[in-house]
Amino acid sequence: MKIYISADIEGIWGVVSRKHTGGDSLDYQRARKLMTAEVNLVCEILWENGVKEILVNDSHGPMDNLLIEELDPKVSLISGYPKAASMMEGLDESFDGAMLIGYHPKAGTAKGIFDHTYAGREIRSLKLNGSEVGEAGLNARVAAHFNVPVILVSGDERLCEDVKEEIGNIETVAVKVALSRFCAKNIPFDTMKKTYKSAIKRAVESIDSFPALNVSEDPVLEITFHQSIMAEVAESIPNIKKMGNNTICYQGKDMIDLYRVMRSAVTLASTVR
Ligand SMILES: [Zn+2]
Repeated sequence: MKIYISADIEGIWGVVSRKHTGGDSLDYQRARKLMTAEVNLVCEILWENGVKEILVNDSHGPMDNLLIEELDPKVSLISGYPKAASMMEGLDESFDGAMLIGYHPKAGTAKGIFDHTYAGREIRSLKLNGSEVGEAGLNARVAAHFNVPVILVSGDERLCEDVKEEIGNIETVAVKVALSRFCAKNIPFDTMKKTYKSAIKRAVESIDSFPALNVSEDPVLEITFHQSIMAEVAESIPNIKKMGNNTICYQGKDMIDLYRVMRSAVTLASTVR
């Protein structure tokens, strides 16, 4: 069995403040260790459950957060930026399942740790085929393009609630409960370990019962930006249409095409903030 892991940092156990998610602070260095340790814990449990191959894709910010020298020596790691498929780089049809570790709730979630969707300074909301999704829901549909089911998502409690709506009845591990955007009650480390153990065991044992999501052949993306100028510059991308002042719409050929155009639109929007 072959498992793909996309690892973000905001939903990692112990991560609560901006000092943890980047920059020069010592706390960012601590958070990188916490992220590496949580990914290692997940991998250790996957091996115990008979998984034979794991690919980890570093999916936060500069995408080189995980400390390879401290990472489980049996896993492959995609590290660095840019990469064509971003948070889902390296995934293909050969994987049996995908896990999204350390994820966070979508933009606009009250009392959700670091609530944002893909690009917090640009995107106010993102809809796929008319339904608002966060990064977990979006990336699960990228996985579905390759017929790979997302079998487990971890992060704060609000994310785990979102995931039931955005993806369905998959395994979730809530490692903390957000009390505000930058404050959380972390569950005891031992409890986190036990919860991951039982959730991963159930996920691997019943991997055949997690169907990949159904993605339509012509998925429609709608992005509402924080500023109208962002929609104006994004409109210069071929086949993107503006809908109202701050919103653009794009009909993709498939999820990969849609994901690529979303990333281009966000990159352009970031030049005018
Ligand atoms: Zn992140």
